[in-house]
Amino acid sequence: MVSSIYFFGAGRADGDATMKALLGGKGAGLAEMSRLGVPVPPGFTLTTEVCTAFYAGGGALPDGVEEELREAIGRVEKIVGGGFGSTTAPLLVSVRSGARASMPGMMDTILNLGLNDAIVAGLAERTGNERFALDAYRRFILTYAGVVLGVEREQFEEALVTARRKAATALKIDHSRLNNAELERKVPDSALDPEALRGLIARQKEIVLAATGKSFPDDPWAQLEGAIHAVFGSWNNQRAKVYRKMHGIPESWGTACTVQAMVFGNMGDDSGTGVAFTRDPSTGERRFFGEWLPNAQGEDVVAGVRTPHPLSKGGSDDERSLEVRMPQAFAQLMEVQARLEHHFRDMQDMEFTIQEGSLYLLQTRNGKRTGRAAVRIAVEMVKEKLITQNEAVLRVDPGSIDQLLHPSLDPSAPKEILARGLPASPGAATGEIVFTADEAERRAAQGKAVILVRAETSPEDIHGMKAARGILTARGGMTSHAAVVARGMGKSCVAGCSSVSVGRDIVTVSLYDDDGRPTGSKSLKAGDVITLDGGSGRVYLGAIPTVPAALSGEFGELMAWADGVRRMRVRANADTPHDARTARNFGAEGVGLCRTEHMFFDEKRIEAMREMILAGDKHARHRAVDKLLPYQRDDFTGVFREMAGLPVTIRLLDPPLHEFLPQEKAQLEQMAQVLGVSVAEIVRKNEELHEFNPMLGHRGCRLAVTYPEIYEMQVRAILEAACDVAAEGVDVHPEIMIPLTMTQRELTLMRELVDRIAEQVFSEKGRKVSFHFGTMIELPRAAIRAGEIAEHAEFFSFGTNDLTQTTLGISRDDAGKFLGAYVDLGIFPSDPFQSIDVDGVGALVELASERGRAKRPGIHLGVCGEHGGDPASVTFFEKVGLDYVSCSPFRVPIARLAAAQAALNAGTHGGPKATD
Ligand code: PEP
Ligand code: MG
Repeated sequence: MVSSIYFFGAGRADGDATMKALLGGKGAGLAEMSRLGVPVPPGFTLTTEVCTAFYAGGGALPDGVEEELREAIGRVEKIVGGGFGSTTAPLLVSVRSGARASMPGMMDTILNLGLNDAIVAGLAERTGNERFALDAYRRFILTYAGVVLGVEREQFEEALVTARRKAATALKIDHSRLNNAELERKVPDSALDPEALRGLIARQKEIVLAATGKSFPDDPWAQLEGAIHAVFGSWNNQRAKVYRKMHGIPESWGTACTVQAMVFGNMGDDSGTGVAFTRDPSTGERRFFGEWLPNAQGEDVVAGVRTPHPLSKGGSDDERSLEVRMPQAFAQLMEVQARLEHHFRDMQDMEFTIQEGSLYLLQTRNGKRTGRAAVRIAVEMVKEKLITQNEAVLRVDPGSIDQLLHPSLDPSAPKEILARGLPASPGAATGEIVFTADEAERRAAQGKAVILVRAETSPEDIHGMKAARGILTARGGMTSHAAVVARGMGKSCVAGCSSVSVGRDIVTVSLYDDDGRPTGSKSLKAGDVITLDGGSGRVYLGAIPTVPAALSGEFGELMAWADGVRRMRVRANADTPHDARTARNFGAEGVGLCRTEHMFFDEKRIEAMREMILAGDKHARHRAVDKLLPYQRDDFTGVFREMAGLPVTIRLLDPPLHEFLPQEKAQLEQMAQVLGVSVAEIVRKNEELHEFNPMLGHRGCRLAVTYPEIYEMQVRAILEAACDVAAEGVDVHPEIMIPLTMTQRELTLMRELVDRIAEQVFSEKGRKVSFHFGTMIELPRAAIRAGEIAEHAEFFSFGTNDLTQTTLGISRDDAGKFLGAYVDLGIFPSDPFQSIDVDGVGALVELASERGRAKRPGIHLGVCGEHGGDPASVTFFEKVGLDYVSCSPFRVPIARLAAAQAALNAGTHGGPKATD
């Protein structure tokens, strides 16, 4: 039988770092550390397969697991020299979740398991520290009751407040006017003496009995079984589900469960606990970085309730740094972190505990990082000869570099600094204050930009963090839940902003002058606008203007390596000279889609457009269209100049005409006046043009089949512009593209039209410019008949937006209402309008490519739907062997990196590039 349990400890392990799928990231990391001889408390991991079997069995552990569990506990007992359930030398364990991909804080963890009254007494005697033993027990009851028994936390909090008030009275502190937070500051956990703790424990047990009808379990084995059930069960809690959906983690993976001997960071001043990164996860700088809390358990750091101290010296808090307080443990930690980073060849995020001076590592994993840090770390590791250039290219998640490409606060804009906190996750964010995650979600759904303001965040807030533009917390450090999760999402976050005090519906900010003297305070309520700068940790009042991203040197280096290995070309969807310039700055190798209709919405042009639509006959139509010609020619001239030397694909008019007519009364009247026609006439035309399904109506080349004048004008504008810029010496490569083609005959007609106009223009201008003629493939029929369509088309550009809409029969404008449910239920793995439906729409792309190539070898193939900038879809397009992808300017670098990764993964790198 395959083992359900993998042991680690005392320099050995059944598993290793390669076994993340089976042992989860945490289990695999512990196994590997144990093999490396890093000090790790012994323990074992129940595999993700046990989790899957647990769900298949309706929530029961499979047969045989219990025996393996007893045997594994026996091995741990031997190593630590204690007994699980023993009153003389008690072994306590932690029970932790850990999936294949890290999901910080999303699933459950239980500490100090294996206690009851008798064992607590034994532990007190053995450690000579009764307070510590009782505190461990009350913490254990608190988590176990919440996580395993499902008892609400509120009553426990009340019990703790009562205990604090009693202790305050005993300490002769006047607490009558203190609120709970102030009370906690005056009477921290460490001020609760054994008697207070005993009273608290008794009260906690009463709460459990009242809520569940059962006594709190005394049997350590029953506790262990309950905890394992809860950890497996937590794979399916709400917040874990939301997190998985956001990060594309499959539901089927399941979590592993690691049971490990406890070590205690709360055994006094020679103990502590912390989190460390081998490099700065925010900037990527190569400096050992982290935080710790003396005399505390791990959860205290992660939960962000107490603000932790730095590990290393060099800041304003040197006296409290680990380096000063415990130089030996610090030196050992430095040695271990260097070893782990070198071994894993990636930035590590480690959790450690120091028990009475001895260091233990509880976890190591490849650390989450911002896009900026990911780029810097990958590039520097190449220079340090730790990884290769290709590995560096594969290391950076293309989606994460989005953060680098976005604007930051305008340094010259006037700003009023409201508060300073920790720069937890970079980027600028402006929005209205909201105080709860639900409110964030509600306001964001109404289209509002919101900033979620919390005293501290808990994993339950994840949906609110997702909906918010930025997150501000009063408490917590750089490694608090809010900071870690925000960095993963690429959201701006300022954490640990201690001058801010967050109430139920008001934030009070204490204000200071430049010398740090208090000058008063300011109150803000929900709806007030603030701006966060997650890169500096500053909070500003009101909305602050932003400036475009400045791409760093390392970014350029990484992109150059990516460009060196990718095969596909990357173009941009750009409609104006301005967009074309942005795209070229981001590395676009041409325009893959210029949507000409966007040029018609300008005030002057729309008048002529409307005149054209209302024209009663061909002549009137010609007159109107001729007014548009100079505008169009100017636009194209500008785009050609920006894209000198590179191809520019211009698509002829695509949307249905009614989109250009006004609908509201005031606009109708204004238009009637400008055009000198009656309102009734416009209303009549509107009705005439009305379509039940405009997306499937009179649009695309169907417009030109009935009204060729508009395409004639556009072709003329393109070719006149091309001749003009060629005369200036600009190297111009126009490509004329027909939208929504479905039959060969349509394309024959369009080709005749284009050739006729081209001949006229070239003879008028006395010069010829070579151009390509091609079509979009965005209807299933076109994909299926791609062979005959290729007879006329020199290129295909897959319009995967429409192709998805028409293949699935799902309106792209209405899908939002129900597609979410389709993804939740696993009907689609992800939104098919964002990430291509490989099996359906993808199959049509593949078929059309094959048929097109069979008819016209060397036919140029690209994609210009939204999928062109989606990394998962880019992987698919590489497999099909397309020549290029085209996407919005800001996604060009993402697509360049994704195309490089796709080539490296498909083994198609290193050869010649696709023709452009
Ligand atoms: C498409 O359909 O994929 C496309 C690029 O065209 P549009 O989005 O303008 O319909
Ligand atoms: Mg389309």
